[in-house]
Amino acid sequence: MSASWADAADSDREVNPFGDDADQENTSIDFDDYEDTPIETSGEDVPPPVHAFADIELGEALNLNIKRCKYVTPTPVQRHAIPILLAERDLMACAQTGSGKTAAFCFPIIRGIMRDLHGERPPGSRTLYPLALILSPSRELASQIHDKAKKFSYQTGVKVVVAYGGTPIDQQLMELEKGVDILVATPGRLNDLLERATVSMQMIKFLALDEADRMLDMGFEPQIRKIVEQMDMPPRGVRQTMLFSATFPREIQRLASDFLSNYIFLAVGRVGSSTDSITLKVEYVHDSDKRSHLMALLHAQRENGTEQSLTLVFVETKRGADTLENWLCMNEFPATSIHGDRTQQEREEALKSFKSGRTPIMVATDVAARGLDIPHVAHVVNFDLPNDIDEFVHRIVRTWREGESGVATTFFNENNASLARELAEVMQEADQKVPEWLTRYA
Ligand code: AMP
Repeated sequence: MSASWADAADSDREVNPFGDDADQENTSIDFDDYEDTPIETSGEDVPPPVHAFADIELGEALNLNIKRCKYVTPTPVQRHAIPILLAERDLMACAQTGSGKTAAFCFPIIRGIMRDLHGERPPGSRTLYPLALILSPSRELASQIHDKAKKFSYQTGVKVVVAYGGTPIDQQLMELEKGVDILVATPGRLNDLLERATVSMQMIKFLALDEADRMLDMGFEPQIRKIVEQMDMPPRGVRQTMLFSATFPREIQRLASDFLSNYIFLAVGRVGSSTDSITLKVEYVHDSDKRSHLMALLHAQRENGTEQSLTLVFVETKRGADTLENWLCMNEFPATSIHGDRTQQEREEALKSFKSGRTPIMVATDVAARGLDIPHVAHVVNFDLPNDIDEFVHRIVRTWREGESGVATTFFNENNASLARELAEVMQEADQKVPEWLTRYA
């Protein structure tokens, strides 16, 4: 336990994360809509789900915080994941943003730390020894998890600290030095802390990876593997590991088999169901007609009043990105672009201008889109198709947003014939009508 655990009773110094407004927690989501969510579990001896928070032994302090958060009943992912994690099993969970997964992994971690009175750190060392590590792809998500985890752990004596890049490290170091049980971090900043030997992974009992697919998408795999496999973290089987991901592509399956031990697989909604609420359109467009076709789509958005919604256009080449951006701007559609010849700073600036809506169209290559926290957008246009179906799925899930349906429009012609079969399969899986002409290519 950190120093704060020893004097948990002295909670006066702990800032109330609920503030003055105890009603602030977002309860606007109607989880009744999730009642029919299909659930799939597999693995040995899967612990049965619970139906009420009262059925789970979480302890008084945690239960009080659940009430303060105004969580009345557990969401589907919580019903299944919490008993699995409390039974000290490893978990691979496919669940979306907005499904309540933060609580699903935070409650068992906090409960575990509260229970474990043997978390004594090596004496006389200035290095910090968190007991739990939650890895997140982006600063925004890390900070969201941190805010929630602080609420969940209020007056439990469990200390939560966040560390992410893009801001000076000093403030985060100061917070860390006050003691840390749960560290929420982005992979880059954590590597920095590990290299400075400020933080050690030696005492990690719980490892959670949130939005693991997005982390890999952003190119973090080497950093994650370094943290988990090459530093001093206890091996799988000794620590408890939980992986959360919206999709379950091959790379995530590999990560699961490398990081988890005798794990339980849990899918809330269908696997890869991130495509469910996306309307997938495939249109036959000759290369020479692509620009005018895009223009028609953008004009339609203008006419139906959704011009300000963000549109992300994927192209194949850097030059293609530049010329399309210029052409859009010339035609009075405010656009920006990101590609591999742009510096990181230029990419960040383009992204800022896109996110703020100043240039609601962004043209991107796949490579440049990696490593950036691109928000979920209203419309993804595959101006050029990628060579690989996984890349296609990575692109289209950019338009998945909680409670809203996104649109992904794909321009297809005979140059893409090799992708036709897999494209048709993705559409079928997502219950979308596959155009007759596409099946001929397939
Ligand atoms: P998450 O998927 O963890 O980002 O959660 C999505 C939203 O649902 C957040 O605003 C949570 O505070 C809220 N939430 C999570 N679990 C519950 C619950 N059991 N009851 C009501 N709201 C919840």
